[in-house]
Amino acid sequence: MAEEPTQKIPVWPSIRRLLKLSGPNQLWFYSALLVALIEAGVTIAWNMTLARFVDAVTTGNSATYLYYLSLTLAIISSGLLLGYLHTRFIGNFSEKTLVVLREKIAGSATRMPMRYLEERHTGDLLSVLNADLVKIKNLTSNALLDVFSQSVMAVSALVILFVLSWPLALASALLVPVMLMILSRLNQPVAQRTEEMQAVIGETVSVAQDGLGGLMVTRAFNLAQVMDGRFRAANQGVLTKGLQVSRLQAAADANGSIFGVLPFLITFGFGGYLTITGRLGFGSLMAFINLLNFVANPLGSLPPAFASISEAAGAAQRVFDLLDQSPERTGGQDFSAQTGAPEVVRLEHVTFSYGAEPVLDDLSLQVRAGETVAVVGPSGGGKSTLLKLVLGFYPIPEQNVFLFQRDLNEWSLSAARSQMAFVAQDTYLFPVSIAENIACGPPGAGQAEIERAARLANIHEYIAGLPDGYNTPVGERGARLSGGQRQRISLARAILKDAPLLLLDEPTSALDTESEALVQEALERFMAGRTTMVIAHRLSTIRDATRVLVLEGGRIVEQGTHEELMANKGRYRELYTRQFDESGPAA
Ligand code: ADP
Repeated sequence: MAEEPTQKIPVWPSIRRLLKLSGPNQLWFYSALLVALIEAGVTIAWNMTLARFVDAVTTGNSATYLYYLSLTLAIISSGLLLGYLHTRFIGNFSEKTLVVLREKIAGSATRMPMRYLEERHTGDLLSVLNADLVKIKNLTSNALLDVFSQSVMAVSALVILFVLSWPLALASALLVPVMLMILSRLNQPVAQRTEEMQAVIGETVSVAQDGLGGLMVTRAFNLAQVMDGRFRAANQGVLTKGLQVSRLQAAADANGSIFGVLPFLITFGFGGYLTITGRLGFGSLMAFINLLNFVANPLGSLPPAFASISEAAGAAQRVFDLLDQSPERTGGQDFSAQTGAPEVVRLEHVTFSYGAEPVLDDLSLQVRAGETVAVVGPSGGGKSTLLKLVLGFYPIPEQNVFLFQRDLNEWSLSAARSQMAFVAQDTYLFPVSIAENIACGPPGAGQAEIERAARLANIHEYIAGLPDGYNTPVGERGARLSGGQRQRISLARAILKDAPLLLLDEPTSALDTESEALVQEALERFMAGRTTMVIAHRLSTIRDATRVLVLEGGRIVEQGTHEELMANKGRYRELYTRQFDESGPAA
């Protein structure tokens, strides 16, 4: 049964932190704890009364019998009331704590640094929100309270056992410390393996999510078998861990059961002997046996409770890991764009890398107000990275990127981003209505403004023609719309934002001619007089640009207007000829 060495999970610090995070809701927990302690007292009182009651019945004393009968009734009814309060209080604590946690997780996920999110799978994050919170709920809704109240109950019952008959108590309790030690040793590996199993389940969820998320690719490329294979492998991993857990759990349970019955056997033997020889009353023997349950049962039930607590502590730890990610930088000043400023964006000798290799290599460039700068170049050249740096997605050194002639690091990120409208290549639409998708730019935009933006984006006619118009839901990721419609909606979103700098990553995928024309027309209208940085794939965009930058290997290898660059007969012309000439007359 000796498995690999186990790593200890910091249980109590996690629980303390969880309680602290829960804020004023902790009071519900402490109230429930108080009630549970009173309940323990009541249970003991009831058992003591039971002893007297049995003695009264066996000695035929009817006055005492009636007295203890009514006392028993009173104790039982107060026990019922306490049980109700206990459940209510702990329910309040648990639900309210989970709301706080969910809010904190969601809040920190949306503010996490881009790099952290790019390195993790969303399935991982989702499994924290699902599986880990279920475990924490288990902890907050019963395990924690049970451990406290059962421990107190066990200790108090043990004291009473000594009062009832110390020799008998001593004989049956002798084994308790040994049992506790053995049981806790048996349960630690269970907790550890369960923790590992959780990680594997996270992987399985990620794989399943890939299969569903890339649904069209999976179908189109007949990848179902590949995905099935990956899922089966991940699922097999869960099985292996799951079997380990149940093997360890079975051993722990079996051992727990053996130790659980021993004290009773001793009590039956030795206690029976004491009663027969007249040294212990019959009622006291009954009370003893009853109370022994409260000492012995926790020996069986506490270890699993501890296991689920340490499991929940592991889950809490994963939640804290998320919460402890330092968010994107905060602070900075809320500058606004200067009207009439000659320069909108400047990069000064920017070198940037994701890993070891620089993706941008000593890059300098300036974008003046009103210019349209088209960035072209081979894939992997660093075009998207350039836009992402301007958007402030990654930390950069001081004096590297300037927005309206101020170091981007001096800007607050939200103020900087409110100067920019970003239209990504793969338009993300939220699974809400069209109107809400357009209005997600500036909060509080009215219907009239939304419609104006949609008109400018050449999508109003289409939306107005839908039975539910602007209230039509777009489906997950905009699945119910065509590529061109999605693009025009995201363009409307940018138009509504009306920011001085437009960052545009032109879709590489070709649209049908009509869509293409509608998008192009909308874009031209929107870009007129606005400063634009565009990763350009369409010939017309490139031709209309004030300046074309050829970005290759993280460096600007050539720049100028389309005509100048064609005349240069350099890298641009080479790329141009390859891309557009070969695609025939349509280009
Ligand atoms: P382009 O837009 O010109 O195709 P990118 O800026 O997307 O180029 O990518 C430039 C290089 O950086 C590529 O080699 C790409 O693999 C790498 N890269 C891009 N994004 C990341 C990322 N989040 N993590 C690691 N490497 C990345």
